[in-house]
Amino acid sequence: MRRAALFFALALAAPAAAYARAGGGGSYSSGSSHSSNSSGSSYSSGSSYSSGGGYRSSSSGSYGRSTPMSPLEAQLFTGLLVLLVVVLLLVRWLENGPSFGASRTPAAAAGFAALKTADPSFDEDAFLARAEAAFRRVQEAWSTGDMTPAAALLSDGVYERFQLLLELQRREGRLNKLEDLRVNRSVAADAAPGRRFDAVDVRFAASCKDRYVSVRDGSLLSEEDSAFVEYWSFVRSASARGRVSPGAVEGFCPGCGAALAVNASAVCPQCRCWVNSGEFDWVLAEITQESEWHGTPADSAQELEDRASMLFWRWQRCLADKDVAALEGWCSEEGIAALRTSGVGRAAFFDCGVGAVEAQVRRSADGFEYAPVLVRWAGREGGPDAPSRKRRTTLTLARRTGVVSQQNTLLRSAHCAGCGAAIPPAAPVCAHCSLGFKDPAAGWVLVGLETFDS
Ligand SMILES: [Zn+2]
Ligand SMILES: [Zn+2]
Repeated sequence: MRRAALFFALALAAPAAAYARAGGGGSYSSGSSHSSNSSGSSYSSGSSYSSGGGYRSSSSGSYGRSTPMSPLEAQLFTGLLVLLVVVLLLVRWLENGPSFGASRTPAAAAGFAALKTADPSFDEDAFLARAEAAFRRVQEAWSTGDMTPAAALLSDGVYERFQLLLELQRREGRLNKLEDLRVNRSVAADAAPGRRFDAVDVRFAASCKDRYVSVRDGSLLSEEDSAFVEYWSFVRSASARGRVSPGAVEGFCPGCGAALAVNASAVCPQCRCWVNSGEFDWVLAEITQESEWHGTPADSAQELEDRASMLFWRWQRCLADKDVAALEGWCSEEGIAALRTSGVGRAAFFDCGVGAVEAQVRRSADGFEYAPVLVRWAGREGGPDAPSRKRRTTLTLARRTGVVSQQNTLLRSAHCAGCGAAIPPAAPVCAHCSLGFKDPAAGWVLVGLETFDS
């Protein structure tokens, strides 16, 4: 019974605790925890487990054996099942000490087998160790308030997300620091080789002390114990198959092997290769909250989802700045009109977190290809104390039919496709080579943006 009481106390504590952190769950994770108890919710928290069925059944199986419970208790706990899985990992860790053993779901095991057929040099244990090292590197960079040291590990969509969240925190005078970070369990959840990209999703169950400190003098503003679960999607180009040399995780350029100097452009100073393009090594291309994860995205969706993610965060920057400048350079005329009616100047959001980014069905009309991408997110409108609400924003991208993007630019949507320079917010054209980004004959352009309450 004491164990059951502990479970219950931890389960109740969990939604409040998971309120910040680098993964950018922000207010999203707590929102989704609540919605899992609400019958009217359009989200099914249980669905995220369907893809990882093997994992779930093994967890609940051992739970049943170790803690016999009355039917009433069992009924109470059913509604908190998702949280309990998190708590179970935490309790196991408390009892057994940290477990860094790598494991995989049946879906991931099948995906790994296919990956090994495509690339006999692929080593899943080495991959998982590197994924966990990347997880730590990214969290460390987040805690310093600057993602530059991790830029080479991140797609542009993920990099933009981190940099904007950090900047918004700074504007509020605070910095989020994750101390005593522990990866309680990492599990390969899904894996798939693709025509253009190989992808592996890793489920991280982790805990930390989640602190906010003052930017001004470093004094402690708040502290909570936080336990969280996130799916990190690692992606590489098919061209990276067969490469076994160390990469950015180990501090080396995956293209030429030189020690990698830190830079925000993620361009190797030695060989000038684009380190985070996925051409040479795995990069982190998306972070999905547990309640929204449905498996590895389709090969064809990777580019769009990353670009839409980058554009979504630049839109949040527009809202925070009360100015459309941060996105103007990426929009058609209709896109700019949509931006102006999207709340810029009227609304701004605090504790913004993205649950998932999902490419929708494309359509063609009048010589253009249209690609809507749905972003599920949550934020507090108007102030940090406002209630967090879930929203869905659809960003519609368009390009001339027949345009094909260069493979090495697909995960570098915030870099110039011509010369590789980083494109700062509000730049209408590349400062280095004058290439513009709003030509649908050259690539995807934002033509629409619409937000709905969830
Ligand atoms: Zn290099
Ligand atoms: Zn350029």
